[in-house]
Amino acid sequence: MQETKHIILLGPPGAGKGTFSSQVKEVLPDIIHISTGDIFRENLKNETPLGLKAKSYMDEGKLVPDEITNDMVKKSLDDISDKSWVLDGYPRNLNQAEFLSTITSIDSVILLSVDHKILIKRILGRFSCPNCGEIYNKYFIKPKKKGICDKCNSKIEFKQRPDDTKETLNNRLDVYEKNTKPLIDFYKDQGLVKEIDYTNKLSEDKIKEVIF
Ligand code: AMP
Repeated sequence: MQETKHIILLGPPGAGKGTFSSQVKEVLPDIIHISTGDIFRENLKNETPLGLKAKSYMDEGKLVPDEITNDMVKKSLDDISDKSWVLDGYPRNLNQAEFLSTITSIDSVILLSVDHKILIKRILGRFSCPNCGEIYNKYFIKPKKKGICDKCNSKIEFKQRPDDTKETLNNRLDVYEKNTKPLIDFYKDQGLVKEIDYTNKLSEDKIKEVIF
């Protein structure tokens, strides 16, 4: 039996945390991907009380208050304490990191590094298929046929994330610098950080090397 892995992904917006998580899933298919941003977006789409509380913060690129976020993460992790998971987008500040350490163990923290100019293009160029969620980028990966999703074949109007705008991006980068970056030292002090250059997708062997 494979040992359980609890992995945290750190990195600025656009570092590729979602893509990296999909790559990890190819190597460890049973691992559970928890993205706090995805959970908030899903709640927003379904207009749940949680989504409505989170909306104004997300629209401005600010952090949703810790009480709300911590509680949501605890509920997600409570159900899967004996399974492997990769956390994408959480923790985002020291308070969240300290809270997390009271509810679970962590095996590794993977820090994704990418050149600043590429980050900006990844965020501002990002769009996705509203039908299947496949992500594209106007600078890097366009659909093979204009207006048609490569993955699900839908003829569809692609969507941009409402917070992938210049104005909001500045706030998100600020939040990363001020609140999230200190977590690098927090986890380095615990000997947990592995830093990788994620300018390009990694080979399966490299992903295995990073997570095992
Ligand atoms: P993401 O998809 O990770 O870029 O997250 C999108 C937005 O969701 C962020 O800009 C925040 O408003 C909110 N969010 C996601 N994760 C967290 C978190 N750990 N703490 C607070 N807010 C978060």
